[in-house]
Amino acid sequence: MHLLNADLHSHSRFSDGTLSPAALARRAHANGVELWALTDHDEIDGLAEAAAAASDLGLGFVTGVEISVTFAGETVHIVGLGFDAGDTQLRAGLLRTRGGRQARAQAMADGLAQVGLKGAYEGAQRYVGNPDLVSRTHFARWLVETGVCPDTHAVFRRYLTEGKPGFVPHRWAGLGEAVRWITGAGGVAVIAHPGRYKFSVNEEYALFSEFKAHGGRGVEVLTGSHGQADTGKYTAMAQEFGLLASRGSDFHSPEESRIDLGRLPDLAGTLDPVWTLLLERAQAA
Ligand code: AMP
Ligand code: MN
Ligand code: MN
Ligand code: MN
Repeated sequence: MHLLNADLHSHSRFSDGTLSPAALARRAHANGVELWALTDHDEIDGLAEAAAAASDLGLGFVTGVEISVTFAGETVHIVGLGFDAGDTQLRAGLLRTRGGRQARAQAMADGLAQVGLKGAYEGAQRYVGNPDLVSRTHFARWLVETGVCPDTHAVFRRYLTEGKPGFVPHRWAGLGEAVRWITGAGGVAVIAHPGRYKFSVNEEYALFSEFKAHGGRGVEVLTGSHGQADTGKYTAMAQEFGLLASRGSDFHSPEESRIDLGRLPDLAGTLDPVWTLLLERAQAA
Protein backbone atom coordinates (compact mmCIF):
# COMPACT_ATOMS: atom_id res chain seq x y z
CA MET A 1 0.00 0.00 0.00
CA HIS A 2 2.87 2.41 0.66
CA LEU A 3 3.84 2.04 -3.04
CA LEU A 4 0.58 3.57 -4.30
CA ASN A 5 1.33 6.53 -6.59
CA ALA A 6 -0.47 9.08 -4.44
CA ASP A 7 -0.07 12.80 -5.15
CA LEU A 8 -1.89 14.64 -2.39
CA HIS A 9 -0.76 18.24 -3.00
CA SER A 10 -1.36 20.32 -6.14
CA HIS A 11 -2.70 23.72 -7.27
CA SER A 12 -5.07 24.91 -9.99
CA ARG A 13 -6.15 28.31 -11.32
CA PHE A 14 -8.53 28.49 -8.34
CA SER A 15 -5.40 29.56 -6.39
CA ASP A 16 -1.87 30.05 -7.77
CA GLY A 17 -1.58 27.15 -10.22
CA THR A 18 -1.78 27.81 -13.96
CA LEU A 19 -3.91 24.81 -15.05
CA SER A 20 -7.63 24.13 -14.65
CA PRO A 21 -8.66 21.35 -12.25
CA ALA A 22 -9.67 19.17 -15.25
CA ALA A 23 -6.29 19.71 -16.96
CA LEU A 24 -4.53 18.76 -13.72
CA ALA A 25 -6.62 15.60 -13.45
CA ARG A 26 -5.61 14.62 -17.00
CA ARG A 27 -1.95 15.34 -16.31
CA ALA A 28 -2.01 13.36 -13.05
CA HIS A 29 -3.66 10.41 -14.80
CA ALA A 30 -1.19 10.54 -17.71
CA ASN A 31 1.70 10.55 -15.21
CA GLY A 32 0.44 7.38 -13.52
CA VAL A 33 -1.04 8.94 -10.38
CA GLU A 34 -3.45 6.53 -8.66
CA LEU A 35 -4.80 8.78 -5.93
CA TRP A 36 -4.91 12.55 -6.40
CA ALA A 37 -5.91 15.57 -4.32
CA LEU A 38 -6.33 19.16 -5.50
CA THR A 39 -5.19 21.38 -2.61
CA ASP A 40 -5.70 25.02 -3.58
CA HIS A 41 -4.67 27.71 -1.10
CA ASP A 42 -7.58 28.63 1.25
CA GLU A 43 -10.09 27.71 -1.48
CA ILE A 44 -12.19 24.65 -2.32
CA ASP A 45 -14.29 25.87 -5.25
CA GLY A 46 -12.16 23.91 -7.75
CA LEU A 47 -13.01 20.56 -6.15
CA ALA A 48 -16.27 19.90 -8.01
CA GLU A 49 -14.55 20.19 -11.41
CA ALA A 50 -11.61 18.13 -10.12
CA ALA A 51 -13.86 15.35 -8.80
CA ALA A 52 -15.88 15.16 -12.02
CA ALA A 53 -12.74 15.04 -14.21
CA ALA A 54 -11.13 12.39 -11.98
CA SER A 55 -14.28 10.28 -12.08
CA ASP A 56 -14.38 10.43 -15.91
CA LEU A 57 -10.77 9.23 -16.03
CA GLY A 58 -11.17 6.53 -13.37
CA LEU A 59 -8.58 8.40 -11.29
CA GLY A 60 -8.78 8.01 -7.50
CA PHE A 61 -9.59 11.37 -5.92
CA VAL A 62 -9.90 12.88 -2.45
CA THR A 63 -10.91 16.43 -1.58
CA GLY A 64 -8.11 18.76 -0.51
CA VAL A 65 -7.16 22.26 0.58
CA GLU A 66 -3.99 24.01 1.79
CA ILE A 67 -4.77 26.41 4.64
CA SER A 68 -2.49 29.39 5.42
CA VAL A 69 -1.71 29.53 9.15
CA THR A 70 0.37 31.84 11.31
CA PHE A 71 2.41 29.97 13.93
CA ALA A 72 5.22 31.50 16.02
CA GLY A 73 5.26 34.52 13.72
CA GLU A 74 5.81 32.41 10.57
CA THR A 75 3.47 31.25 7.82
CA VAL A 76 2.83 27.51 7.99
CA HIS A 77 0.67 25.55 5.55
CA ILE A 78 -1.74 22.85 6.73
CA VAL A 79 -3.16 20.49 4.13
CA GLY A 80 -6.64 19.08 4.66
CA LEU A 81 -7.64 15.83 2.92
CA GLY A 82 -10.80 13.78 2.54
CA PHE A 83 -13.25 16.27 4.10
CA ASP A 84 -16.86 17.10 3.25
CA ALA A 85 -16.55 20.11 0.91
CA GLY A 86 -20.04 21.29 1.89
CA ASP A 87 -19.13 21.74 5.57
CA THR A 88 -20.35 25.17 6.71
CA GLN A 89 -17.66 25.88 9.29
CA LEU A 90 -14.84 24.89 6.99
CA ARG A 91 -16.27 27.12 4.23
CA ALA A 92 -16.68 30.06 6.63
CA GLY A 93 -13.14 29.62 7.96
CA LEU A 94 -11.65 29.55 4.46
CA LEU A 95 -13.66 32.62 3.44
CA ARG A 96 -12.25 34.50 6.42
CA THR A 97 -8.71 33.29 5.75
CA ARG A 98 -8.91 34.49 2.12
CA GLY A 99 -10.42 37.80 3.22
CA GLY A 100 -7.29 39.87 3.75
CA ARG A 101 -5.67 39.03 0.42
CA GLN A 102 -6.96 42.04 -1.57
CA ALA A 103 -5.70 44.64 0.90
CA ARG A 104 -2.43 42.74 1.26
CA ALA A 105 -1.98 42.77 -2.52
CA GLN A 106 -2.49 46.56 -2.60
CA ALA A 107 0.11 46.97 0.14
CA MET A 108 2.51 44.67 -1.75
CA ALA A 109 2.08 46.82 -4.88
CA ASP A 110 2.75 49.97 -2.81
CA GLY A 111 5.97 48.43 -1.52
CA LEU A 112 7.09 47.48 -5.03
CA ALA A 113 6.21 50.99 -6.34
CA GLN A 114 8.59 52.42 -3.75
CA VAL A 115 11.48 50.64 -5.42
CA GLY A 116 10.35 51.80 -8.87
CA LEU A 117 8.16 48.86 -9.91
CA LYS A 118 4.92 50.64 -10.85
CA GLY A 119 1.65 48.96 -11.79
CA ALA A 120 2.29 45.70 -9.94
CA TYR A 121 -1.30 45.36 -8.68
CA GLU A 122 -2.74 45.55 -12.19
CA GLY A 123 0.10 43.41 -13.51
CA ALA A 124 -0.53 40.65 -10.98
CA GLN A 125 -4.26 40.73 -11.76
CA ARG A 126 -3.49 39.57 -15.30
CA TYR A 127 -2.37 36.23 -13.83
CA VAL A 128 -5.09 35.84 -11.23
CA GLY A 129 -7.54 33.02 -11.98
CA ASN A 130 -9.75 33.69 -8.94
CA PRO A 131 -10.32 37.30 -7.80
CA ASP A 132 -10.51 36.16 -4.15
CA LEU A 133 -7.14 34.52 -4.30
CA VAL A 134 -4.40 36.93 -5.32
CA SER A 135 -1.09 35.52 -4.11
CA ARG A 136 2.58 36.38 -4.20
CA THR A 137 2.94 33.91 -7.06
CA HIS A 138 0.82 36.16 -9.32
CA PHE A 139 3.11 39.11 -8.61
CA ALA A 140 6.10 36.88 -9.29
CA ARG A 141 4.75 35.86 -12.72
CA TRP A 142 4.23 39.49 -13.70
CA LEU A 143 7.74 40.45 -12.58
CA VAL A 144 9.16 37.65 -14.74
CA GLU A 145 7.06 38.83 -17.70
CA THR A 146 8.38 42.39 -17.34
CA GLY A 147 11.95 41.06 -17.38
CA VAL A 148 12.83 42.30 -13.89
CA CYS A 149 13.86 38.75 -12.88
CA PRO A 150 14.62 35.62 -14.90
CA ASP A 151 12.28 33.30 -12.97
CA THR A 152 9.77 33.29 -10.11
CA HIS A 153 12.29 31.93 -7.58
CA ALA A 154 14.52 34.95 -8.21
CA VAL A 155 11.51 37.27 -7.74
CA PHE A 156 10.79 35.71 -4.34
CA ARG A 157 14.40 36.09 -3.27
CA ARG A 158 14.67 39.73 -4.36
CA TYR A 159 11.20 41.12 -3.72
CA LEU A 160 8.67 38.89 -2.01
CA THR A 161 10.22 37.33 1.10
CA GLU A 162 10.53 38.78 4.57
CA GLY A 163 12.41 42.08 4.65
CA LYS A 164 12.09 42.62 0.88
CA PRO A 165 10.14 45.53 -0.71
CA GLY A 166 7.06 43.56 -1.79
CA PHE A 167 6.70 41.56 1.44
CA VAL A 168 3.74 42.44 3.64
CA PRO A 169 3.39 40.54 6.93
CA HIS A 170 0.00 38.96 7.19
CA ARG A 171 -1.90 37.20 9.94
CA TRP A 172 -3.53 34.01 8.66
CA ALA A 173 -5.64 31.42 10.53
CA GLY A 174 -4.57 29.94 13.87
CA LEU A 175 -3.10 26.40 13.88
CA GLY A 176 -5.88 25.03 16.09
CA GLU A 177 -8.57 26.69 13.96
CA ALA A 178 -7.27 25.23 10.72
CA VAL A 179 -6.96 21.72 12.18
CA ARG A 180 -10.45 21.95 13.68
CA TRP A 181 -12.04 23.15 10.42
CA ILE A 182 -10.53 20.15 8.61
CA THR A 183 -11.27 17.50 11.23
CA GLY A 184 -14.73 18.99 11.94
CA ALA A 185 -15.53 18.40 8.25
CA GLY A 186 -14.46 14.74 8.58
CA GLY A 187 -11.02 15.28 7.04
CA VAL A 188 -7.40 14.55 7.92
CA ALA A 189 -4.98 17.42 8.69
CA VAL A 190 -1.38 17.21 7.44
CA ILE A 191 1.60 19.54 8.01
CA ALA A 192 2.70 20.69 4.53
CA HIS A 193 6.40 20.77 3.47
CA PRO A 194 7.90 21.09 7.00
CA GLY A 195 11.39 21.47 5.53
CA ARG A 196 10.49 24.94 4.25
CA TYR A 197 9.92 26.66 7.59
CA LYS A 198 12.67 28.63 9.27
CA PHE A 199 11.98 27.44 12.79
CA SER A 200 14.36 26.80 15.65
CA VAL A 201 14.45 23.23 16.99
CA ASN A 202 12.14 24.27 19.84
CA GLU A 203 9.64 26.04 17.58
CA GLU A 204 9.49 23.08 15.25
CA TYR A 205 8.93 20.73 18.18
CA ALA A 206 6.13 23.04 19.36
CA LEU A 207 4.55 23.02 15.89
CA PHE A 208 4.52 19.21 15.73
CA SER A 209 3.30 18.67 19.28
CA GLU A 210 0.61 21.39 19.18
CA PHE A 211 -0.54 20.15 15.77
CA LYS A 212 -0.98 16.66 17.25
CA ALA A 213 -2.71 17.99 20.35
CA HIS A 214 -5.25 19.78 18.12
CA GLY A 215 -6.02 16.50 16.33
CA GLY A 216 -3.62 16.73 13.36
CA ARG A 217 -2.71 13.30 11.96
CA GLY A 218 -0.13 13.58 9.19
CA VAL A 219 3.01 15.22 7.81
CA GLU A 220 4.36 15.55 4.28
CA VAL A 221 7.55 13.51 4.12
CA LEU A 222 7.83 13.52 0.32
CA THR A 223 7.16 16.88 -1.33
CA GLY A 224 8.54 18.88 -4.24
CA SER A 225 10.21 21.20 -1.73
CA HIS A 226 12.18 18.56 0.19
CA GLY A 227 15.72 17.50 -0.60
CA GLN A 228 17.07 14.12 0.52
CA ALA A 229 18.16 15.43 3.92
CA ASP A 230 14.65 16.82 4.59
CA THR A 231 13.07 13.52 3.60
CA GLY A 232 15.32 11.66 6.05
CA LYS A 233 14.66 14.13 8.84
CA TYR A 234 10.86 14.10 8.45
CA THR A 235 10.75 10.32 8.05
CA ALA A 236 12.27 10.18 11.54
CA MET A 237 9.98 12.92 12.90
CA ALA A 238 6.84 11.22 11.52
CA GLN A 239 7.87 8.13 13.47
CA GLU A 240 8.81 10.07 16.61
CA PHE A 241 5.46 11.90 16.67
CA GLY A 242 3.35 8.97 15.48
CA LEU A 243 2.18 10.87 12.39
CA LEU A 244 0.98 9.37 9.11
CA ALA A 245 3.19 10.16 6.13
CA SER A 246 1.98 12.06 3.07
CA ARG A 247 3.39 12.49 -0.44
CA GLY A 248 2.62 15.38 -2.79
CA SER A 249 4.37 17.23 -5.61
CA ASP A 250 2.97 20.70 -4.77
CA PHE A 251 2.67 21.08 -8.54
CA HIS A 252 1.74 24.61 -9.71
CA SER A 253 2.68 24.86 -13.37
CA PRO A 254 4.50 22.93 -16.13
CA GLU A 255 6.89 25.89 -16.57
CA GLU A 256 7.65 26.56 -12.91
CA SER A 257 7.43 23.34 -10.94
CA ARG A 258 10.53 21.27 -10.35
CA ILE A 259 8.56 18.08 -9.72
CA ASP A 260 5.68 17.02 -11.96
CA LEU A 261 2.49 15.38 -10.70
CA GLY A 262 3.16 11.90 -9.35
CA ARG A 263 6.92 12.07 -10.00
CA LEU A 264 8.13 11.60 -6.44
CA PRO A 265 10.17 8.82 -4.81
CA ASP A 266 8.43 6.00 -2.94
CA LEU A 267 7.59 6.37 0.71
CA ALA A 268 9.86 4.41 3.08
CA GLY A 269 8.27 1.06 3.96
CA THR A 270 8.64 1.82 7.68
CA LEU A 271 6.12 4.71 7.47
CA ASP A 272 2.33 4.52 7.69
CA PRO A 273 0.89 6.29 4.64
CA VAL A 274 -1.92 8.77 5.18
CA TRP A 275 -3.80 7.30 2.22
CA THR A 276 -4.49 4.04 4.08
CA LEU A 277 -6.68 6.06 6.45
CA LEU A 278 -8.22 8.10 3.60
CA LEU A 279 -9.15 4.98 1.63
CA GLU A 280 -10.55 3.25 4.75
CA ARG A 281 -12.76 6.25 5.45
CA ALA A 282 -13.89 6.52 1.83
CA GLN A 283 -14.85 2.83 1.89
CA ALA A 284 -16.76 3.18 5.15
CA ALA A 285 -18.72 6.20 3.85
P1 AMP B 1 1.03 33.62 -0.57
O1 AMP B 1 0.00 32.63 -0.09
O2 AMP B 1 0.42 34.75 -1.35
O3 AMP B 1 1.93 34.10 0.54
O4 AMP B 1 1.95 32.87 -1.62
C1 AMP B 1 2.60 31.69 -1.23
C2 AMP B 1 2.99 30.91 -2.49
O5 AMP B 1 4.13 31.51 -3.08
C3 AMP B 1 3.42 29.50 -2.18
O6 AMP B 1 2.33 28.64 -2.09
C4 AMP B 1 4.28 29.17 -3.36
O7 AMP B 1 3.46 28.78 -4.45
C5 AMP B 1 4.91 30.51 -3.71
N1 AMP B 1 6.29 30.62 -3.19
C6 AMP B 1 6.68 30.86 -1.92
N2 AMP B 1 8.02 30.94 -1.83
C7 AMP B 1 8.50 30.74 -3.09
C8 AMP B 1 9.79 30.70 -3.69
N3 AMP B 1 10.90 30.91 -2.97
N4 AMP B 1 9.88 30.47 -5.02
C9 AMP B 1 8.76 30.28 -5.77
N5 AMP B 1 7.52 30.30 -5.27
C10 AMP B 1 7.38 30.52 -3.96
MN1 MN C 1 1.34 28.18 -4.03
MN1 MN D 1 2.58 25.54 0.68
MN1 MN E 1 1.07 24.12 -2.08
